[in-house]
Amino acid sequence: MEGKILESVLGEFEKIAQIPRPSKHERKVSDYLCARLNDLGLKVEQDSNFNIIADLDASPGFENSPRTILQAHMDMVCVAEPNVKFNPLEDPIKLERSEKFLIAQGTSLGADDGIGIAIILHILKTIKNHGAIRVIFTTDEEVGMTGANNLDEKFVADADFMINCDSETFDEVIVSSAGSVNLDFSKRVEKIPPACENFFEVKIDGLLGGHSGEKIHENRANAIRLLAFTMISMKRKAVELDKILNISEFNGGEARNSIPSKASAIISTQLTLDELETLTKELNARFLAMYDIDSGIKLHVREVDSAGRKIFKSEDATSLIRLITIIHVGVYAMVSYEKDVEQIVETSANLGLVSTHEDSIAVNYFPRSSVDGKLDSFYQLAEDVADLTEFEVLIMNRSPAWQKNPNSKLATLACDIFKSQNDQTMKIKSIHAGLECGYFAMKNPKLNIISLGTTNEAIHSPQEKLHLDTIVPQVNLISTLLERIAGGSI
Ligand SMILES: [Zn+2]
Repeated sequence: MEGKILESVLGEFEKIAQIPRPSKHERKVSDYLCARLNDLGLKVEQDSNFNIIADLDASPGFENSPRTILQAHMDMVCVAEPNVKFNPLEDPIKLERSEKFLIAQGTSLGADDGIGIAIILHILKTIKNHGAIRVIFTTDEEVGMTGANNLDEKFVADADFMINCDSETFDEVIVSSAGSVNLDFSKRVEKIPPACENFFEVKIDGLLGGHSGEKIHENRANAIRLLAFTMISMKRKAVELDKILNISEFNGGEARNSIPSKASAIISTQLTLDELETLTKELNARFLAMYDIDSGIKLHVREVDSAGRKIFKSEDATSLIRLITIIHVGVYAMVSYEKDVEQIVETSANLGLVSTHEDSIAVNYFPRSSVDGKLDSFYQLAEDVADLTEFEVLIMNRSPAWQKNPNSKLATLACDIFKSQNDQTMKIKSIHAGLECGYFAMKNPKLNIISLGTTNEAIHSPQEKLHLDTIVPQVNLISTLLERIAGGSI
């Protein structure tokens, strides 16, 4: 029986893995899944964003039972090892199965979230006693969640429960996630010829970096911040010695939602390389002492060519450094939803990217919160900070928080079923990252939502690995949940 379930789910997964499906290119996979759901007897609709909405009628005798949405996303993050030739728009994922794991040869696997879809397809084939089931497969989860965002509210309004199948740990039930907003600061500038022809590059690297939701509570150093402090110290030294120091370039970070692991600046100064190196050494030691966890922080300085370089006017450079140093980065607030339960991050912010150009400066700030009201408070903060530093600010891509429902009986029921089926405890958890559940909760605040998933390691990387022994427990859990909902257990 168990073997049959596993083979059936993996059979569905293999077919999905054959279809290239990077975010924003889901048409093919969406067409395939429409046909598949049609074969399984569902009434299928595809919207203009290629989201799929498919209905399965209640089984006889359960017509008055609540309606449950089963939800997953169709797109995947496509990444390959540096030496692997891989065209995400054309190449299928090459699966490699061992006794315990499923991986892909040299690329990401797409178990996030292909396994969620495969499990749902399997359940639709086998479920016996159930109320009305609506399957919603969304597009573009990994980039902008535009599929979930643009989904017509009517598909969410008439449902009572939703099981999102996009989590990554089989013995956890997720009950809330964070919202976020992009705060993009920018400034028009005009660079001027340098007052001194000696140029140096000041670089900081070797920091841990990492995901700005998952790692923000670890007090990891922010390279952009440390480089700004370095600029302040160097400027102070220059003033002390009555010498010139100006900034010509300042760039750092990898992505809005990554803690920046490196940053570099070009300066023009009368300070000597010796003076700069001495200062750099002192600062490096100070930074290492400030951040225990970041033992690889390294500041470098070297002379560079001066040809064609210009500098920022000192008021513009001051504005930039001030903006970087006055906005808070890291954790704003921790929260514990239940007594004696481990605290998690409620609100945080990451300063992820800074770039300077010939005529402009851009700074990307990225707050997250599981409380919408706290996210709102960043709007005023952004405008005040922009005023104080003479930047403009654009507020964009707000994604809603999925706030914890204190009366959720669905999570408790999932825990009870999991315990009886696996003789082990399921943990109720909130995460400090985004899930599509926020959009569904926003469209129907009465919808009772949980998020579940098989155990998937290292998602979004070529090391992505699916734990095969977590598939059958997921199938059993979701099937029983559907039967118990139909039977009136909640
Ligand atoms: Zn996912």
